[in-house]
Amino acid sequence: MSTVRNLIFKALRYSGLPFLFREIGQRRKVSIVMFHDLEPAVAERSFGYLAKRYNLISLDTYLDACRRGDASQLPPKALIITLDDGHIRNYELLPLIRKQLIPVTIFLCSGIIDTNRHYWFKFRHPNLLKPALKQMTNRQKLELLAKAGFTPETEFPEPQALRREQIREMQPYVNFQGHTHFHPCLPKCYDEEARVEIVQSKQVLEQEFKLRINALAYPNGDYSERDIELLKEAGYACGITVDYGFNTIHSDLYRLKRLSIDDPDSLDAVSVKASGVWTLLLSWLGKREQYRQVEAVSDAPRKAPAKVLRQLPTLILFHALDIPETVLAILA
Ligand SMILES: [Zn+2]
Repeated sequence: MSTVRNLIFKALRYSGLPFLFREIGQRRKVSIVMFHDLEPAVAERSFGYLAKRYNLISLDTYLDACRRGDASQLPPKALIITLDDGHIRNYELLPLIRKQLIPVTIFLCSGIIDTNRHYWFKFRHPNLLKPALKQMTNRQKLELLAKAGFTPETEFPEPQALRREQIREMQPYVNFQGHTHFHPCLPKCYDEEARVEIVQSKQVLEQEFKLRINALAYPNGDYSERDIELLKEAGYACGITVDYGFNTIHSDLYRLKRLSIDDPDSLDAVSVKASGVWTLLLSWLGKREQYRQVEAVSDAPRKAPAKVLRQLPTLILFHALDIPETVLAILA
């Protein structure tokens, strides 16, 4: 992290704003924070900091309070620690989690764990950067990645995700939940792709890994109304976003809010980000949207008749001119 950035976080931390947010804004709320692939030493420092200032609770404790409609079982300044993706290094956090009994939820990609398959977002495309790939439909993205030598099923020499034995060993101390099968941006999937990603995630984790799955963290924090419906149909009790804010027992369980903390962040940054000050500041400055709900791409005309009808003359013209489907998809 740059020195200037460090200084900004230090200034913000000691401005008193994180303290005020924590002691007033977060006092009667449930905050959820997101990490990914933490080094054990960084995790020890960050979790230790959070444990001193918040009351760490498990996701299940929160869901149980919601089910009962009883906020009295939640401590003040409740905070849930989550880690996305199921990176193989998460296993190295086990001694810390076990020793300090830190309630942690790890969201797994069911098609990547226990294989040598890689996360698509860790593959370096020769010409396209990640933000560009995330803008495309999932199908287009996979086509381009395949041309560059990556498919979701490609087995590489080294694993990137947790192995079965590691998950089994961590299971008594860690709450494992779903993060789709191959980590696509869900709204960029067509209906059936999204359904398979969501349903398979739960089925594989439950049947092959004997986990009890009630939550899904939307990859990249992106979700649509359709994806929420698919989660409900598949039997998930909640969906976790990276929308800005905190939660209560009255929150929409399929739009749970979460604050992102980067893995190498200093304690100054952890303090500022866990309090919600950072995301709020970024959204005020127009650097980040507060909510990530978008419209899903759809190949089911019945769901978007107006749009299809509007595009029909163009589609007929393009078809007559024999313009490839990928160009049509981009224009759509
Ligand atoms: Zn992820």
